[in-house]
Amino acid sequence: MAKRIPEDAGMNTRLAHGGNDPLDYFGFVNPPVVHASTVLFPNAATLSARSQKYTYGTHGTPTTDALAAAINEMEGAAGTVIVPSGLMAVALPLMAFLSAGDHVLIVDSVYFPTRNFADSMLARFGIDVEYYDPHIGAGIASLIRPNTKVVLTESPASNTFEVQDIPAITRAAHAAGAIVMLDNTWATALYFRGIDYGVDVIIHAATKYPAGHSDVLLGTVSATKQCWEKLQKAFTALGCSAGPDDVYQVLRGLRTMGVRLQRHQESTLEIARWLEQQDGVARVLYPALESHPDHRIWKRDFSGASGLFSVVLKGNGPHVAHAFLDALGIFGLGYSWGGYESLAVLVSLRDRTIAKGNYDGPLVRLQIGLEDVTDLKADLARGLAAARVAT
Ligand SMILES: *Cc1c(COP(=O)(O)O)cnc(C)c1O
Repeated sequence: MAKRIPEDAGMNTRLAHGGNDPLDYFGFVNPPVVHASTVLFPNAATLSARSQKYTYGTHGTPTTDALAAAINEMEGAAGTVIVPSGLMAVALPLMAFLSAGDHVLIVDSVYFPTRNFADSMLARFGIDVEYYDPHIGAGIASLIRPNTKVVLTESPASNTFEVQDIPAITRAAHAAGAIVMLDNTWATALYFRGIDYGVDVIIHAATKYPAGHSDVLLGTVSATKQCWEKLQKAFTALGCSAGPDDVYQVLRGLRTMGVRLQRHQESTLEIARWLEQQDGVARVLYPALESHPDHRIWKRDFSGASGLFSVVLKGNGPHVAHAFLDALGIFGLGYSWGGYESLAVLVSLRDRTIAKGNYDGPLVRLQIGLEDVTDLKADLARGLAAARVAT
C-alpha cells in the first residue's frame, strides 16, 4: 500500500512520513543510504543524453532526494539542496544570486561566520556588503540601491534575539526587485514558514534541531519556484554535495524533531521565566517572553519558540561570566546547539557595527536541552551563586 498523506496534514504527520515512499524500496520504512559516485547507464544512447533520473553522486541520490522532499513539504518550497554544513547553506545562495558589482544587505546581528564569509569572500569577489539594523523593518527601502540583489535576514538574531519584521522587509525588497533570504535555523519550519511571509530562499543549519544529537554537520537551502533553478545551478557548479550517512542521520532526526522541539520549548519557557526572577540576572533575551521588546512581532509571525536564548548577568567584567560558566555541571561549555544536551557560551558583540545593544552586564547564551527542568534550574542556580560571589 502506497502512503497516502493528505495535502493538509499537520506538521508532525509530515515529519513522520515526509520524503520517501517505502514502496519504492521493497516496503522498508526508511530509504536506503546510497553511497555513490558513479551511476551506470544501460546503453550509449542513455549515457550521451543522460536521460535517466540519477547520473552522478554529486547531483543527487535516493537518500538526498528523500531529505530534500521532506524539507520541501515542510517549507512549501519548490526545491531544496543539501550541503555539508550550515555555513555552506549560507554561502551557496549568496554565491548563486550575487555577481561582481552587486550590493547585498545583511542584518548586523547575523551569525558571525556568515559575516566573516561576506567580509572576506564576497568582498574579494567585488560584491558591496552593507549591514543593517535588525529592527529596520520597512525602513530597509531607504538602503536599497539599483544594484541591490539580495537582502539577508536572520530572525531572531544570533545571540541577542531581536525579531525582524520579515513581511515588511520582503514587501520593500520585492518592490525594488531584490530577493530575500532567511537563515531560519532557530525557528525551523515548525515555528516559522518563511515562504508564507514572502521569503524567497530559506537556509537551515540542519546541524542544529534537524540532526538533534550534536553529531552531524549539514545544511539545507530551499527556494521558491522563481529562485530554484538558479540555486540548483550554483549547487551543481560548486559540487558541494553532502555525505550520505549525514544526510540519512538528518532525515532520521526530522522524524522526532516535532516532539523534541515541543519539549525544548516548554523547558525553555519555564527556565526563562524563572531566570527573570533570579538575583544576579539583569535581563532575559527570549522572544517568547512578554517582557521581550519584539514579543509582539514574534507572536504575530511565529507559532513557537525553540530552546536557545541569552541572559544578561548583573555585574561587570568577564570574570562574573566565567564564574557563572565554571560553576555549571550539567550545561556544557561549547559552540553550536540544537542537540539533546544543554549548553552555555559567553557572547561577544565586538564584530557588530549597529546592533551592539546596551547590555549592562555580560551576555551568556544558553541552549536548553532535553534534561529534567528541576536539574537544569539547580545547575543555573549554582552558576548564579558563583557569579554573585565574583561580582
Ligand atoms: C550554526 C549555525 C549556522 C552554521 O551551521 P554549521 O553547520 O555549524 O556550519 C548557520 N546559521 C546559524 C543561525 C547557526 O546557528
